[in-house]
Amino acid sequence: MATQSRFVLRRLLCGLRARTGWSQGSASTSRQGRPPCRPELRHLSCSYPVCQSRTPTRGPSSLSFRSHTCGELRLDHVGETVTLCGWVQYLRHDLFVILRDFSGLAQVLIPQGDSASHLKTALCQLTTESVIKVTGTVKRRPTGHENKGMPTGEIEVLAEGVEVYNVCRKLPFEIKDFVKKSESLRMQYRYLDLRSSQMQKNLRLRSQLVMKMREYLCNEHGFVDVETPTLFKRTPGGAKEFVVPSREPGRFYSLPQSPQQFKQLLMVAGVDRYFQMARCYRDEGSKPDRQPEFTQVDIEMSFVDQAGIRSLVEGLLQYSWPAEKGAIMVPFQTLTYEEAMRDYGVDKPDTRFSMKLIDLGQVFFSTEIEFLRSVLSQPGGSVQAVCVPGGAKLFAGKDLEELKQTAKTQFSQELSMVLVKADGTLKSPLKKLLSVSATDELLQRTGAGPGDLLLMAAGSLHSVRPLLGNLRLRCAELLESRGASVRDPSALNFLWVLNFPLFLPKEGDPEQLESAHHPFTAPLPEDAQLLHTEPQKVRGQHYDLVLNGSEIGGGSIRIHDASQQLNVLKSVLKEDPSLLSHLLEALDCGAPPHGGIALGLDRLVSIMVGAPSIRDVIAFPKSFRGHDLMSCAPDFVSEEDLKSYHISVKWPTE
Ligand code: ASP
Repeated sequence: MATQSRFVLRRLLCGLRARTGWSQGSASTSRQGRPPCRPELRHLSCSYPVCQSRTPTRGPSSLSFRSHTCGELRLDHVGETVTLCGWVQYLRHDLFVILRDFSGLAQVLIPQGDSASHLKTALCQLTTESVIKVTGTVKRRPTGHENKGMPTGEIEVLAEGVEVYNVCRKLPFEIKDFVKKSESLRMQYRYLDLRSSQMQKNLRLRSQLVMKMREYLCNEHGFVDVETPTLFKRTPGGAKEFVVPSREPGRFYSLPQSPQQFKQLLMVAGVDRYFQMARCYRDEGSKPDRQPEFTQVDIEMSFVDQAGIRSLVEGLLQYSWPAEKGAIMVPFQTLTYEEAMRDYGVDKPDTRFSMKLIDLGQVFFSTEIEFLRSVLSQPGGSVQAVCVPGGAKLFAGKDLEELKQTAKTQFSQELSMVLVKADGTLKSPLKKLLSVSATDELLQRTGAGPGDLLLMAAGSLHSVRPLLGNLRLRCAELLESRGASVRDPSALNFLWVLNFPLFLPKEGDPEQLESAHHPFTAPLPEDAQLLHTEPQKVRGQHYDLVLNGSEIGGGSIRIHDASQQLNVLKSVLKEDPSLLSHLLEALDCGAPPHGGIALGLDRLVSIMVGAPSIRDVIAFPKSFRGHDLMSCAPDFVSEEDLKSYHISVKWPTE
């Protein structure tokens, strides 16, 4: 950009910042007597004569103004003339500039001699986060001045020339890993937040993973990367979709929850093996660790069964998993849905620790405790327990109270507790109701010993299992927070959960059935005839992939017969089949047997890097409420603009 126009742009930005009071940062800058734009530094945007070093033809410095990245310099480079480009991380006593790029830090030595006074002035006047290019000679640091904590800590670059590309104003937060900032500030200035070394690492690891996945799918297994539309139409069932107005009155597009229909249609089209890094959209409101838009590794194959898809995914993860994140053992463990619910109370169990649910029906079947007897005599009635090793010893009264409250408020259930004291005697309101033999049987059945805690719940299996499944996880967290080691943080417990029910009672209308996953899942062949008689008993050819208690993928073998698909939609789900007439028609035009899966890329990467939230592995995520805090999307649209969509806003009244 010509100097003149750069100057004009800078003035415009200054004016804009002044008018909008851009940030507290600029105000405090002024208070410190440092104006947001520093005219005195403008002259630095010129080059000092430097000897040009060669840039490599491949690698992260190819085609660039730089010869090396900041983080790659080592003793091997001593004596070389190098050119670095980056951001000023620190200025140290007019002696050094610490320069940063995505790869790390390099120390630039500011020459002190009179002959280099221009250069010294230029470097010493810089502000942190200014962007510069430095050319200089790599030197070994004097003995005793090495920095062992810095990969480039044995060398420094003696500056011989500098070009200042951009002088940085005072920022809303410092780009230092140890500086804590609120999530909303990080989101508002995401382009600054992304400069942190952790975010740089996360984005790069994600990119590597995706590249390896593409390699595996395309090169090893002949998959074809096909893009499918983002503007689609509303489909029955599943999550709520975002709608997009069109210029035709009353007609709306819908953003797809997933490319499910398209990937099936691609199988009908004979593509045979499809994949896509697919952007999906679900209008699910505020849910922790969900994003309204997210990415799936979406896969579909023809002429395949469940075992084929499972081994494809096991191979894919093994191939693409970064070596430094631990080895993946295949095949993955499998559990049926029924086993998962029976042992762990959830359909995505964290199998890194035991603490399984224990059925106490036998212990209390002929008990003196009237209430338990009556629960057990009901169909589906059950008494279950979880034994928390060390719980009686490690949990405080408030922890026990919290567990009881969770049972009450989230599950509308009463929780009974039995604490086994150090001397082996029990502390519990149940104690006086239990005979000696029942006490012995209880301890024997649960394996509870001194210091352990038993959590017990009685009621219908459908409510007792999820309650204890939830408390099992909470107790693991509590035990860990008290110093007990429960889960190995480096373990990778992949697990397939199989044989889910095909349908579940509809939320809010339990008489009606809805798909447990989506309406295209095929029934297990041995259950198919039940579709016409007892659909609630049909198990689906669905599989979920779980990693350390998080669902990271799910898929199924699909219905490829139009009449079976029509029956599911019309007779079982009571949906209007005309909404899916295109798919039904396609299934009648020579559809191969097919199946697939979608892996949640964001969650997978977040587990891989140990990030607390999927927002830490998405470059520009939305807030908890689905807002982009940087650009303020969603935003208002003028009435004039809305007219072309035949839409008028009805504002809610107070
Ligand atoms: N489309 C499904 C989902 O997004 C995955 C699949 O069945 O392949 O959950």
